[in-house]
Formats: sequence, structure tokens, C-alpha cells
Amino acid sequence: METGAGYPLQYWEETVQSGARLSRKEASDLFSDLDLYQLMKLGSNLTAKQVGDVVTYAVSYNINYSNYCSASCPICAFYVPAKLKGKTDRGYELGLEDIRKETLKAREMKATEIHIVGGFNPYLGVEYYEDMFRMVKNTYPEATLKALTIPEIDFIARISGNSVKETVSRFKDAGVDAHTGGGAEIFAPEVRKQITTPEKISGEQWLEDAKIIHSLGMPGNSTMTYGHVESWDDIIDHMIRLRDNQLEVPGILSFIPLKFSPENTPLQKMGKVKGPDSSVKDIKVISMARIIMGQAIRNISVYWVAVGKLMAQVELDSGGSDLVGTAYREKIYGATNRTERTTTEEVDNLIRGIGRIPAQRDTFYRLISY
Ligand code: SF4
Repeated sequence: METGAGYPLQYWEETVQSGARLSRKEASDLFSDLDLYQLMKLGSNLTAKQVGDVVTYAVSYNINYSNYCSASCPICAFYVPAKLKGKTDRGYELGLEDIRKETLKAREMKATEIHIVGGFNPYLGVEYYEDMFRMVKNTYPEATLKALTIPEIDFIARISGNSVKETVSRFKDAGVDAHTGGGAEIFAPEVRKQITTPEKISGEQWLEDAKIIHSLGMPGNSTMTYGHVESWDDIIDHMIRLRDNQLEVPGILSFIPLKFSPENTPLQKMGKVKGPDSSVKDIKVISMARIIMGQAIRNISVYWVAVGKLMAQVELDSGGSDLVGTAYREKIYGATNRTERTTTEEVDNLIRGIGRIPAQRDTFYRLISY
């Protein structure tokens, strides 16, 4: 990290408010020059200018179709090694009837969005996914189907011998409306090597795939997993690359920083991470996201499941404009013992509690109701 340019808050305020697109060096100078409270103020002022007072969220229902995975990422507590299939009762694969039942629960809970992700399961072909998506759409046609991370799409394409383009076209035909944006982790290769395995595509490939998927008319979110072994340079680099990707081929609906939750993960068992990173970092990540990316990616999301509900309020006051979703039945963070639950009333109250206006949105960030 640079030592900063030595500019005062006013200089950075004017630079950022003028809409300047920060270079890596400028972003890192700004980060070094400003303290926590100045970053929060800048993030908050920019949010007011770019988004206004409204804080959005979706009523979302999660389905995790399988936890067998051939990738074995050190940051993950969710997966069961695919080679253990048939040798352990910890792994599962949902069948079509299970998917139908889950979808009916989503309908009962009035979810507007069904969010589907799982592991890299080498035993499932592209047809399994097509059948699953068709089942969801036939059971609950009113819901938007947001499915798979970009590395999952890439994996399914590879094992079925299709291109990403062909795979996405087939999934679109089967009813997928958007991808989830997961699996971006941290793009910097040295860090990525420590937290994932080569099977989980490089940062460059993630960005290339995103452009292909977006150019086919399937938008999605973007993410970053932080709070493990990365540096601030890596975080800034990740944000700049996502912003530039969006400017080249638009299709990113929001940016969702995901705080790493270490419990039960191999990374913690290896002793590389001692515990969750600080709340100060959470706030700075959101402020920097707003400052670096807000012009290109207007929706900067706070994932309350990862940071907790009270910290989510502070982050909304520092650059955030969205609370992701109700995440009914979330299992990925649940595997790290983060099992908080919520209701739409509670989300509304969280937002009203900081003087902002809650609004339910659809997957594409269009407002449904205030
Ligand atoms: S993070 Fe995803 S790809 Fe990596 S082990 Fe977990 S389920 Fe598999």
C-alpha cells in the first residue's frame, strides 16, 4: 500500500464528487489519506447523490442443490469432497421432487427471487440443471430465477464439453434470468491461490466469462470475499477490475462484498486465519466500494448474513444502498455457524432505524413496493 498523496478530505471530496474515475494509484492514495470517519462520510455523501434515501432488498429464497464439490476451496465450510460420494452421509444432491418442494416453500413465503447455487458436482450433467430450472419455473412462474456462480457455469460447461456461451444459452432457455455473481473471491492470483483451488477458474477467467454471460443478455451480481489473507491493494485491485469490466460490457447489477466467515473452514484449520476480520474493515470496504465503483455499479450491497444486522446498519450509513435479500434457507454461511434469520418486517425496521426508506426490489433492482 502506498503512503498516500497527503491530500486533505476536501480535495478527495471534490475529486470523487466530480465523477472522476479513480486509477489504482489514486484509489490507494485516497485510502491512505483518509481516516475511517472521513471514508464513511465520503461514502455516505456519494450514496445520497447516486441513489438517494432508499435502501432496497429482495425477498429471496435460497436452494443449494448439492454440497458435493471437486474444488475443495480452503475458504469453504459447505462442501463435501465429491470423491466421498457414497461413502459419507454428509453429502447430498437434491432430486427434482426435492426442488419442487423447495420451490413451493419459496412460493408460500412470497419470495420474488429464487437463488440457486451448489458445489462443483462432477456427477451432474448439464441436463440435471436444465431439468431443475424448468421445474422451478413450472412450479412458480412468477419468481425470478437467479442461478449459479460464474465458476459453476464455467465448470458445468467444461465437464459437459460445451462452451460457456452454449451453456448459458441453454440455461436461459430453461428459465434462468440472472446469475448470482458469486465465486469472484479475490482476483489477485497470489491470494486466489491460497483461498481456492485451480478448478475454481482464475480471476481473469471470471472477468472474461462475465463479459460473455452479460453479452448474452443474462445479467448478475458481482462479489468479493474479503477478510482472510488479502491486502488492501488486493481489495482495491478487485474493485477497479470489476468497475472496468462493467464499463466494457455492462451487466453487473450490484457489488456484494462478502465477509469471510472462518469457522469450520480449512483456512482456519490450517492456522492461516485466526478469526473474523474487524468491523472497521467491513465499513472501509463498503465506503471504498462506493467511492471506486458507485458510478459504474450503482447498487452497493451489504450482506447482513455475513456482517450481522447491527453492523449492516452502520455500513448502510457508509456507502451501502441495498441489503441483498431475506436469504431464506441460506446454507453456505450457515455451514460456518452464521445462522441468523430475518423477516421482511425486521429488514424494514433495520432500514427505518437509520432514517432511510425501505423498498422491496426485484432481482434487477427495480422497486416493487415501498
Ligand atoms: S467455495 Fe464453491 S467451489 Fe469452492 S469448495 Fe465451496 S462449494 Fe466448492
